[in-house]
Amino acid sequence: MKKSVDNGTIPGLSKNALTVLEKRYLKRDTTGKTLETPADMFRRVAAAIAAADATFDKKADLNALTDKFYNLMTSFEFLPNSPTLMNAGRELGQLSACFVLPVGDSMEEIFESVKNTALIHKSGGGTGFSFSRLRPANDVVMSTTGISSGPLSFMRVFDIATETIKQGGTRRGANMAILRVDHPDIMDFIMCKNDQRQLNNFNISVGITEEFMKAVDADRDYTLMNPRDKKPAGTLNARKVFSRIVKQAWENGEPGIIFLDRLNKDNPTPHIGEIESTNPCGEQPLLPYESCNLGSINLGKMVTHGRVNWDKLKEVVHAAVHFLDNVIEVNNYPLDEIDKMTRSNRKIGLGVMGWADMLIMLGTAYNSDEAVTLGEQVMKFINDEGHAASRALAKTRGAFPNFKGSIYDRPGAEAIRNATVTTIAPTGTISIIANASSGVEPLFAVSFVRQVMDKNILVEVNPLFEKIAKADGFYSEALMQKIAEHGTVHGINDIPEQVRDIFVTAHDITPEEHIAMQAAFQRHTDNAVSKTVNFPNTATVEDVEKVYRLAYQTNCKGVTIYRDGSRDEQVLSVGKKE
Ligand code: UDP
Repeated sequence: MKKSVDNGTIPGLSKNALTVLEKRYLKRDTTGKTLETPADMFRRVAAAIAAADATFDKKADLNALTDKFYNLMTSFEFLPNSPTLMNAGRELGQLSACFVLPVGDSMEEIFESVKNTALIHKSGGGTGFSFSRLRPANDVVMSTTGISSGPLSFMRVFDIATETIKQGGTRRGANMAILRVDHPDIMDFIMCKNDQRQLNNFNISVGITEEFMKAVDADRDYTLMNPRDKKPAGTLNARKVFSRIVKQAWENGEPGIIFLDRLNKDNPTPHIGEIESTNPCGEQPLLPYESCNLGSINLGKMVTHGRVNWDKLKEVVHAAVHFLDNVIEVNNYPLDEIDKMTRSNRKIGLGVMGWADMLIMLGTAYNSDEAVTLGEQVMKFINDEGHAASRALAKTRGAFPNFKGSIYDRPGAEAIRNATVTTIAPTGTISIIANASSGVEPLFAVSFVRQVMDKNILVEVNPLFEKIAKADGFYSEALMQKIAEHGTVHGINDIPEQVRDIFVTAHDITPEEHIAMQAAFQRHTDNAVSKTVNFPNTATVEDVEKVYRLAYQTNCKGVTIYRDGSRDEQVLSVGKKE
């Protein structure tokens, strides 16, 4: 067993990681004094998750498994999503990051959903909704003979509820709102974030259908449907709607788009329900009342002597799947419906962080064909091994209860424990804890200012860059300062060329290269890939349109773009010159 040092810090735990853990993750008393060290936290989580093994094996060695999970996390080779770190082994016990709730077309159902959202946000989870079932604004309301308010007014109710709960919760509650492209209020939805003071607790995405994309290609009109009576409610020109989506995204990054039919084509349990929404960051499609817990392998820790260490990666994948399946078991669900649905499908979302770090360690530029090929190879390996691990678990624990009738239920097919195994999460906070690059994103900058949780600011120099700069003798405070101001190492001749070539950052990479990487990971991911395609401020509307179409053509499940400087507040920002 790896012993933590006396003061409870963990070797390799960065200063930024400690700041994040102290602010939100560690147990505190009512005066705000922390009651546990980071090492205590990881032990608390490891013990709580290991305990699930006793359900399946009375003789399970829980101490040994606790040590294994503790080492898995404190080596920063794997971390579960934030709610698991915050809540495992504590009273709340809510461990999932992702939820989707239904919003039905009645006052009772809408406000039931607002209440359930509040309960989920309180526990650190994020919620996604489709508002497509709500009748449009100015439609009939039989009971009052009045007129309906429409999806947008109700979205504001959810937004205000979220804003209010934020103060007392463990972290910012995040929401995703999806509206089908054939909903009569679609144009208002597309424009709804024009006023940047509104709906700030929502990400919005238009639910795109194949029918719509065909109409865009053919420059045809398409039919809007009123969800109340399922009757046609007018037509719109598909190309005009598509252009409006793109124009808005160019202006302030939203709406994103998700390909609804594609999500449903890969729905593992179509006999249980239709997928109508994803979680807030878009990587996890879920059925109404379903939740999912995520976890990410730190690829930067999977490089040995300049090579991918496949044996180690395999071992970590198997341990991670075991860990995540146990999370489902010990999770304390905020609602009975969620408990039932989640335990019946047992979706987990194993993904990666530190992809950019891995490439740097291998000396490969993110924007190279070699990197795209390797990305696909790494993710295929994780997906295959992840499925093998889930099948192995099914041998002793049984298949997920909705297996019969699922896409896995074919003659002679082996049972599998989890309806989905892989998801690429943003890893916004756990990558800080692991001191790794986020998800499958390139480095945002070699040196930058990060705004986390409310208004806290963290200044960061990429640790790999610092190490190489010191080893190669070109490190100086002045140079780091210069890079922070410049935003990229490109064009700074004090840095050796081969170093400049591998430290490419988000803005050195073309939008097409961003999509190529997203598509490579998507090919071997059960769920979806969280990825932002970064554009320079000078990008045109046409550039954005090209990328939205490319995402469709390359089988991505959705796309999110961001044009630098297009929003008042950015989560990440490159250091600016005075
Ligand atoms: N999430 C949330 N609020 C936040 C950050 C994340 O509700 O402030 C949810 C959301 O569903 C998101 C998911 O957690 O899609 C995963 O986000 P991320 O990987 O960044 O979370 P981490 O585990 O790193 O905190």
